[in-house]
Amino acid sequence: MIIRVDKILCTSCGICKTHCSFGALTFDNSAPVFNDLCVFCGACVNVCPVEAIIIRRREIEKDISDYSGVMAFIERERGAIKPVALEIMGAARQLADRLKETCSAVVLGAGQNADQILLSRYGAKRIYVVEADPLNSYNTDIYTNVMTGILARYKPSIVLFGATHLGRDLAPRVAARLDAGLTADCTCLDVDRNGNLLQMRPTFGGDIIATIITPNHRPQMATVRPRVMKSLFQPVQSEKPAEIITIEVDIDPRSIRLRLLEEVVEVSPFASVEEADYIVSGGKGMGSKENFKLLEELVQTLAAYVGKSRVALGASRAAVDEGWIPHQHQVGQTGKTVTPKLYIACGISGQIQHLMGMRESEKVIAVNRDRNAPIFRMADFGLVGDVEEMIPHLIKYLKKEA
Ligand code: FAD
Repeated sequence: MIIRVDKILCTSCGICKTHCSFGALTFDNSAPVFNDLCVFCGACVNVCPVEAIIIRRREIEKDISDYSGVMAFIERERGAIKPVALEIMGAARQLADRLKETCSAVVLGAGQNADQILLSRYGAKRIYVVEADPLNSYNTDIYTNVMTGILARYKPSIVLFGATHLGRDLAPRVAARLDAGLTADCTCLDVDRNGNLLQMRPTFGGDIIATIITPNHRPQMATVRPRVMKSLFQPVQSEKPAEIITIEVDIDPRSIRLRLLEEVVEVSPFASVEEADYIVSGGKGMGSKENFKLLEELVQTLAAYVGKSRVALGASRAAVDEGWIPHQHQVGQTGKTVTPKLYIACGISGQIQHLMGMRESEKVIAVNRDRNAPIFRMADFGLVGDVEEMIPHLIKYLKKEA
């Protein structure tokens, strides 16, 4: 990679220096000079108002043998590690073991001592830590600069992100800066005998599974859907604790273009669909927003048995499109992937895009008035009838048994 400054265009405004988080810029004879700390993150290129800074990434073929190891990006929410981060840590560990390479984690933000012990237990052999207050909450610009810098400097061969809102925003930006490939929403990962990452994901509406490889570029990057990989917890620390590599960054507040003005946390009496062990889901067959109250009552009744934190209300896309329930409840290809112990599908036909999100459920009960509805082909128990009649029956039955 080559970085250079067009001295004719450069106005010596200094904005590039303000945006460099790695202390890689000095000014010499009023033009910026890059030192060895430059990680080619591209932050200066993006902010230069006169486009005087140029990075050439393609001119020199990447030597892919420089790249080694599998890295998991550890997403945190209000200071706590998200479950999907531990799941991709498990996947990273399995891939690294197969490749006989190092499995690492990267964590951004302050206050991570407990996280480091936890990540060791979940399979990290090396943890890259960037402790800086501006990283405590997600900021697209800063996270992109810092992650690009880390990947450019430490050259992992494979990098995994959760396919969350954050991961879906961050991973493609970093991949574009590094001229790397990215496969979104993987449901399965493996490596071939040449060390290429086999990135498997549903395509053509879920009818086929595509396997994507990136043989000529590194790092190989993928986002992975929550709840499709297993976290691998070691209850007893059998190996030596992970090596901690602390990375210093210097984030100038003037370089922060995006500011978090307010965080609105959805308060729900129940769990989110991704976390729940028992899900009651409604589809177009529910007929109206009003009728979703029936489903809420069923959720509440179940909660009396198993606890509020284990039950959730789900929906098909048709119900979400009708405006009966917000999108965060949607299960399926363009919604959430769920793996509950019990999934109760009410007025849902069972189109492939919906099944893709819930087919790993342990037990499925379907309520539908059409006895030929596809959902019955994969349901363990089927109730043929009208939801307005069947759901009150279910509630009554459960209440009687409670
Ligand atoms: P319908 O298919 O209309 O089925 C309604 C069912 O309710 C029928 O089986 C009917 O017999 C039954 N019914 C009607 N009235 C009653 C009643 N009174 N009592 C009992 N049963 C009744 N869908 C998703 O769910 N999640 C996704 O993530 C998703 N992603 C998609 C991505 C793409 C690219 C595309 C093209 C589509 C996607 N879809 C998704 C849409 C999907 O193809 C279906 O259109 C959708 O799942 C249908 O929802 P539904 O089963 O609620 O509605």
